[in-house]
Amino acid sequence: MFRFRRQVYCDNNATTQVSKTVRKRMREVLAHCYANPSSPYKMAHQAAGILSDARERLAKAINAPPQTILFTSCATESNNTLRAIAPLLSDKRRAVLYNPLEHPAMLETLFHLREQGFSMIPLTPDRLGRIRPEEVGQSWREDVGLLVCMAANNETGTLYDIKRMAGIARAHGALFFCDMVQALGKIPVDVQDCGVDYASFSAHKIHGPKGVGALYIREGAPFAPFMLGGHQEEARRAGTEGLHNIAGFAAAADEIPHLLSMADELRLKRERFVAAIREMFPACVINSPAADECQPGTVSVTFPGTANAVVMGQLDYCGVSVAAGSACNTGEDAPSHVLTAMGLSREEARATLRISFPHALSDKDLRYVIAVFGEVLSGKGSRVTVLQPSQLTEEVLFAPDIFIIDLRRTPKSEYLLKPLPDSKQFPFFSIGKHLHEIPKNRPILVTCETGYDAPVVAYYLKRKGYTRLTFLMWGILGWKLAQPQLYARFARQHPGVEDDSTHTQPGKLS
Ligand code: PLP
Repeated sequence: MFRFRRQVYCDNNATTQVSKTVRKRMREVLAHCYANPSSPYKMAHQAAGILSDARERLAKAINAPPQTILFTSCATESNNTLRAIAPLLSDKRRAVLYNPLEHPAMLETLFHLREQGFSMIPLTPDRLGRIRPEEVGQSWREDVGLLVCMAANNETGTLYDIKRMAGIARAHGALFFCDMVQALGKIPVDVQDCGVDYASFSAHKIHGPKGVGALYIREGAPFAPFMLGGHQEEARRAGTEGLHNIAGFAAAADEIPHLLSMADELRLKRERFVAAIREMFPACVINSPAADECQPGTVSVTFPGTANAVVMGQLDYCGVSVAAGSACNTGEDAPSHVLTAMGLSREEARATLRISFPHALSDKDLRYVIAVFGEVLSGKGSRVTVLQPSQLTEEVLFAPDIFIIDLRRTPKSEYLLKPLPDSKQFPFFSIGKHLHEIPKNRPILVTCETGYDAPVVAYYLKRKGYTRLTFLMWGILGWKLAQPQLYARFARQHPGVEDDSTHTQPGKLS
């Protein structure tokens, strides 16, 4: 009957929740180890010890010798080191063979190199983003000095046969740079076994903190520092190390075996999601490969005829967070370069969503996500969602498009509780006469003073063909008790009067 609104984060490729052990470790380091690891006294030696311990732990997670690990500020920086590495190539080998589906952190780096005189040769992905190693061999030119291919694609989850590609690069005497950001924690990563020369990683994709990444540099691979300044990181990367972040990264790396142990189950959940979506919407198109060639929790789906920005907003309203493409491109109007390079039209790319499930997705969460997709994309909205008082946050109150109905039984002068901002007051007993004032195409939040009337009216509206319905449990009274500060800030005495002293728009609080 009723369905309680849940929050299910399905954008794990954008970032991940910082794990408890990571938070604990970071707090310890922040509280007790503030010395600069490069300084010459005891406290600094302790900090330097934490740094080298973290290096060993991350190295162990990817099977690398510790001295091959360079800590950076993020994977974007790790990829940008190519700007200093590429000029070390011989004058005769200044062509770069690359995967055009790379993350912008790599693509922009490559475009910068092109401006410096390097020639760029894109590989040709198929409709599911795959690039066969044979294609690398066939596209090879004598002047190629560098091969660039990610291990897993952030938008589709497509996996690449890095080991064979590295073998081809080695056979041609070329270097291989691999962005392994989306592989770590999702599939086993062994940099020595796959034979890459350089590999980039990011802590926040494996439940670590934001603002720290790493670069693996194979022993003997040419390297020139990108960041100039002090002699940190064996003079390979200047800048005082963010020790708390690095310690957090190492703590997250320790948990990789646990993440990998959940991968099979996650794969099955992804399959269940795909099967359910296909059954509900036979016209949808799955842009990700089958399980054996894909990250366990990622799927890219096109729902022809829809606009992903709108669908994302509707899913978000129901508590399901998904993405349209790379998080770095959110807010841009351009369709995803990944999808268009795979052969989708601009319209198809704009009708595509990326769902990247977290490892810990519960069965209940998955069922909820499937139900919400069904309702949002069928436009039926077969259920009414319940919002608990603690869930009525500023974001919900001021959500774009939201239409708030505030049911009243008494005239204005007898209101016990102030109305919500921008809400529309309707008399409970004659709501039927006001249907023409209630828009059908907007999400509707039904509220009342004490919680009795809102569910009744929400279900009445559902019968009248309204689809995106939510009601506030326990009414405005419950909300006032649960969130007195929000009530004081945002509830208004007189509907329609904007200059009430207690009413302040978010972000404009003095
Ligand atoms: N490479 C890939 C494949 C990514 O998915 C991302 C982030 O989304 C990055 C690089 C950039 O990582 P960071 O946020 O650490 O700069």
